[in-house]
Amino acid sequence: MHTATKCIQSGYKPKNGEPRVAPLIQSTTYKYDDADMVAGLFDLKVAGHMYSRISNPTCGYLEEKITDMEGGVGAIALSSGQSASLFAVLNLASDGDHILCMSNLYGGTFNLFNTTLRKLGISFDFVNPNLSIEKMESYIKENTKAVFGETIGNPSLDVLDFEKVSTLAHRNGLPLIIDNTFATPHLCRPFEHGADIIIHSSTKYIDGHATCVGGLLVDSGKFDYTSGRFPEFTTADPSYHGLIYTEAFGNQAFIVKARVTLLRDLGAVMSPFNAYLTNLGAETLAVRMDRHCENALTIAKYLEKHPKIAWVNYPGLETSPSYKFTKKYLPKGASGIITFGVKGGVEAGKTVINSVKLATLVVHVGDLRTHLLHPASMTHRQLSAEDQIKAGVSADLIRLSVGIENVDDIIEDLNNALTNI
Ligand SMILES: *Cc1c(COP(=O)(O)O)cnc(C)c1O
Repeated sequence: MHTATKCIQSGYKPKNGEPRVAPLIQSTTYKYDDADMVAGLFDLKVAGHMYSRISNPTCGYLEEKITDMEGGVGAIALSSGQSASLFAVLNLASDGDHILCMSNLYGGTFNLFNTTLRKLGISFDFVNPNLSIEKMESYIKENTKAVFGETIGNPSLDVLDFEKVSTLAHRNGLPLIIDNTFATPHLCRPFEHGADIIIHSSTKYIDGHATCVGGLLVDSGKFDYTSGRFPEFTTADPSYHGLIYTEAFGNQAFIVKARVTLLRDLGAVMSPFNAYLTNLGAETLAVRMDRHCENALTIAKYLEKHPKIAWVNYPGLETSPSYKFTKKYLPKGASGIITFGVKGGVEAGKTVINSVKLATLVVHVGDLRTHLLHPASMTHRQLSAEDQIKAGVSADLIRLSVGIENVDDIIEDLNNALTNI
């Protein structure tokens, strides 16, 4: 089935006489008749819910839907996109290990890696995604445990050269982690292009209504962790009486290990209520994404011709440096985020931000309303000027998250704001 069907039909499957709509199971606990069964749950010998820090049916419906849409073998719903990035890295790397990242990552991911995870002894290199494979390879060391990139960089909006980066990862025996937040599984399915692990901030398009902060960690089941480079997967875990993940769980070793160790210990779980709302939002993901793409392309083309606009960046424009990768990896559309600069720089940009009426100033992207912000003074404020440039954030850059309102109304609003300069 297509993703447009899966986002509606995958996940919750009612049995005879059960509710048609995925129910909210707002319960921390589950009742059992038999002590041995509960012992079996704790030993991971029996599948079932025991405590909602580890799993919950409503979270499970969302996890199954996204697993199916991405074409993976399992997923975990987490408290935020940040938790998903954290879990992806901590499930592979510990003190003394290294991760190779593209430099155009979301500012929050950069801070998590470069500040907090460095304190835990994990090191990172952030390389320009345009480097040749050989140049990138020179950053890979014996202790490197993964390569990390974004399908569409936030907010540089370059589309990842999946072929290059997955070749780099795999010929060095490393899994490729992809943040697929901006593309969503409707526009791009990274597992088909060599990704091994996907993370999402479901806060953005998957929820789509700006009601829930959430994250998803998805496992392709395709990476072989038995090479010797990932001993946590292939040697006994004393916290489960000597369990060996690759032997006990085969191609689900990554996602089961993340759930039963990281979620158990760190507790960054998505609440059932947020999973309920996020699942409801996800049901309309495909129609929303099609409309986001259509509106964004129309607006990008309009802005490109506007006399007060200095530059426009949208991966769906032929003038975008990423256009060849957009055609290859995002054939249905280039998502809903546009960046632009106005003539007159930062001050003129502020006038636009302060003059729009339909669009609002919101620290968010990817919900159904149109909004904009100024990354250099907001989302990427904590980065140094040099790191901002590396992340693709120029001082005059305005990030526009195009909503699914009538496109003529959005254009009229932008045009009125530009007239105020
Ligand atoms: C927002 C975002 C995140 C972080 O997600 P939260 O849900 O805010 O924790 C990670 N990656 C990208 C690309 C994002 O846009």
